Amino acid sequence: MNDIREVDVVVIGAGQAGLSSAYHLRRTGFVPDRDFVVLDHSPGPGGAWRYRWPSLTYGTVHGMHALPGMELTGADPARPSSEVITEYFDRYERAFGLRVRRPVDVRAVRAVRENGDGRLLVESSEGSWATRALISATGTWDRPFWPRYPGQETFRGRQLHTAQYPGPEAFAGLRVVVVGGGASGTQHLLEIAPYAASTTWVTRRPPVFREGPFDEEAGRAAVALVEERVRQGLPPRSVVSVTGLPLTDAIRQGIADGVLDRQPMFDRITPDGVEWKDGRRVEADVILWATGFRPAVDHLAPLRLREPGGGIRMEGTRVAADPRIHLVGYGPSASTIGANRAGRAAVRDIRRLLAEQPLAAA
Ligand SMILES: Cc1cc2nc3c(=O)[nH]c(=O)nc-3n(C[C@H](O)[C@H](O)[C@H](O)COP(=O)(O)OP(=O)(O)OC[C@H]3O[C@@H](n4cnc5c(N)ncnc54)[C@H](O)[C@@H]3O)c2cc1C
Repeated sequence: MNDIREVDVVVIGAGQAGLSSAYHLRRTGFVPDRDFVVLDHSPGPGGAWRYRWPSLTYGTVHGMHALPGMELTGADPARPSSEVITEYFDRYERAFGLRVRRPVDVRAVRAVRENGDGRLLVESSEGSWATRALISATGTWDRPFWPRYPGQETFRGRQLHTAQYPGPEAFAGLRVVVVGGGASGTQHLLEIAPYAASTTWVTRRPPVFREGPFDEEAGRAAVALVEERVRQGLPPRSVVSVTGLPLTDAIRQGIADGVLDRQPMFDRITPDGVEWKDGRRVEADVILWATGFRPAVDHLAPLRLREPGGGIRMEGTRVAADPRIHLVGYGPSASTIGANRAGRAAVRDIRRLLAEQPLAAA
């Protein structure tokens, strides 16, 4: 496996963003396995959907857009989205012959300066590829964000993150503290409350509930805000952090029932629970951190793309500091519709780049 294989494009990740990119590569004449490869470290299809909890049914996910070129029709809304979408991605990969290679874990991407033909070296668990362009579509699921609080290591109960959420039954009879004011935190609370002995909801900032429908214009405005951040090289924020939480019937009911009675963030964790500065305490068996995810971009660290602001400066889907590299599903394109559009935009840009820059030594 020491041979370095040469391709025009490496796509890292086969979630919505990677598959959309692969589809557009294929459609515009790039041949899978010859001109481009798609590498994914999961054992099977589905991207992060594969790992989502069983109670997140297809009927409860909102605004899941189909991949380009193939509708997702007739799915039973009562089935877990992890099953529905995994099967759909599997069909999609076969239908378009995308030949995703898995499990292939990409560990590092480096600039190859010495041979001078302008390639990037993609190092993985299954050997290396030298590529003229890169689409990194690695999502966020692999980088759950756990904030640190004093006393955390002394807690005698169980701590887990949304990424490990097993569904509500596991919390039967337990006292649960849920941390986080996003969509996952509120969904977890609404599900767990009927099973748990008690639930407590804490968030850093008061949650912002959004009245009224979330139309296309509001969506565009939210995406534009995240886009502006990444253009400045700041870390992207989740789209929910700029749109607020939709005030659905379930959320209204949760507020009325007192399940969504938000408390400010606690100040420390004790062996038996959590504690505020004013001496108030809540005893807990479980702390569930619904504190979000960060972009999974550690494999790009050798390229030193991070700006002083803490993010990667972007121009559309292209990394400002290196036009060979595109991040799809990053920041403003971290939604199913955004990933679709970004895949197409990245491929258009890469085609132009490759046409303008023929290899020095082919
Ligand atoms: C609970 C939850 C619910 C959501 N619901 C919706 C919704 O209803 N509608 C919506 O539009 N969006 C939703 N989102 C956002 C959604 O996840 C994205 O829109 C989209 O599915 C992400 O696609 P992606 O391809 O960017 O990432 P992923 O689906 O995470 O795919 C990334 C892929 O990259 C692979 N990978 C990562 N690192 C490496 C590496 N180093 N080497 C090789 N492979 C690697 C992973 O194995 C994975 O297959 C939700 C997110 C969460 C957390």
